[in-house]
Amino acid sequence: ANEKPVTVIGLGPMGQAMVRKFLAAGHPTTVWNRTASRADALVEEGAVRAASPADAVAASELVVLSLTDYQAMYDILGQAEDALAGRVIANISSDSPQKTREAAEWLAERGAQLLAGGIMVPAPMVGEEGAYVFYSGPRALFDAHEATLRVIGRPDYRGSDPALAQLFYQALLTVFLTALAGELQAAALIGSAGVAAKELAPYMRETLELAAMFVDETAAHVDARSYPGDLSTVVMMGATADHIVAAGTAAGLDTVLPEAVKSLYDRAIAAGHGSDNWTSLYEVVTRRG
Ligand code: NDP
Repeated sequence: ANEKPVTVIGLGPMGQAMVRKFLAAGHPTTVWNRTASRADALVEEGAVRAASPADAVAASELVVLSLTDYQAMYDILGQAEDALAGRVIANISSDSPQKTREAAEWLAERGAQLLAGGIMVPAPMVGEEGAYVFYSGPRALFDAHEATLRVIGRPDYRGSDPALAQLFYQALLTVFLTALAGELQAAALIGSAGVAAKELAPYMRETLELAAMFVDETAAHVDARSYPGDLSTVVMMGATADHIVAAGTAAGLDTVLPEAVKSLYDRAIAAGHGSDNWTSLYEVVTRRG
């Protein structure tokens, strides 16, 4: 095969899944992991084990990082500084936008370039239908490596600011983690009456679909900074937020999550948004109203 070589550093569940997809697509794939044994099965499947981070970086122009955070990148590439010049570091690890911008500078000082990534699916879905990955950084870098990166999921370029991929990733994980925590809060509320979570499950799915139906209207309100509509006012939704806290308290649950939501409504009302649409909570979240 004439596929381009690629190096993958970081062989947690995500990195391992990426390596398997690169191998299946015919890319000569070099791997390195702090805990060397995590590479064993991949080497049997055809990956090449690098003896050191420097060897791993030297093996391919494109170096994919799949690490817990950006500090891990410094811990590893700090041992490979002389090998970095001319490399494209596709760091598909979660961290803050600021850490991502700093990493772009750190790499640039060593002659390498950062393509920041945020992968939006769990390990079993890497490279499968529906998998996608946000990227940001220099457009030319993205264009040069898009075909290779496509192997792990549809590449979605967000712009030249390296923080953009991270911001899109963290924004969507905000929705995801909050919704997942909400699922558990709901199950606990039902469970307090001795009802099994699976009885709630079909309604939970419908509720999540209903929430999805609000997405476009919410975006329109936010972009216009205008919150019309009297079907779901802050006062009406805020009363419900109160009831959710009361129900959780009566059931003896930890109410930190519903209290956080109630607090947004309380403060929106205090700021005079009571008869606006619930979307006016945006003014509270952004500390503007
Ligand atoms: P893990 O946290 O399980 O693995 C991370 C890798 O980072 C391991 O190879 C680990 O090495 C390495 N590592 C961590 N700290 C250091 C360090 N200080 N020095 C050297 N190596 C280090 O992560 P996942 O594979 O689950 O995820 C990787 C990234 O992908 C994360 O940023 C995660 O947020 C993101 N992600 C994960 C998803 C998932 O479902 N798992 C979904 C979407 C994104 P070692 O083996 O030696 O410990």
